[in-house]
Amino acid sequence: MTKPPLLLIDVDGPLNPYAARPLRPRGYTTHRFHPANWSARQRPGSRRLRRGLRVWLHPGHGARLTALPLELAWATTWMHEANELIAPVIGLRRDLPVIEWPELFARDPDGLYWKTRHVLEWADGRPFAWVDDMITDLDLRHAAQHYDARSLLLRIDPRKGLRQRDFDRLVGWARDL
Ligand SMILES: [Mg+2]
Repeated sequence: MTKPPLLLIDVDGPLNPYAARPLRPRGYTTHRFHPANWSARQRPGSRRLRRGLRVWLHPGHGARLTALPLELAWATTWMHEANELIAPVIGLRRDLPVIEWPELFARDPDGLYWKTRHVLEWADGRPFAWVDDMITDLDLRHAAQHYDARSLLLRIDPRKGLRQRDFDRLVGWARDL
């Protein structure tokens, strides 16, 4: 049996609409976490570090993601902490596969988003969809030219997070495969 296509999920942007203004979007709850990669970038002893990173999450997102005909995996700087900290809040299983980045925020020689080449390599020829707020047209073009299977790179507005229209697009894409 062939494996279902993948859905690679970023945390900040799609699940945490960190750029929403002026208020937390409806349906979201507020959390404070100390993810390792964020904490390492804060000034030791700072108020910001003590308070932790504010994250808005939607408790309904886990069920909606799980209902998609796609195999879920994490593609986020939270790495394994997405399973530990994010998954329980949104109602997602805590053992999803995690893409482990060799280096965070690495500069790409061709101006691609730093995750893109690793995502393509990790997906390893399987059709994949990817939700992330930092995808650009360059990444879309790169995937279209260099990836041998179907891909859907979906840029999510970090002011809005995952919306109905994004779920609709994912379902439609999976159906058309
Ligand atoms: Mg992001």
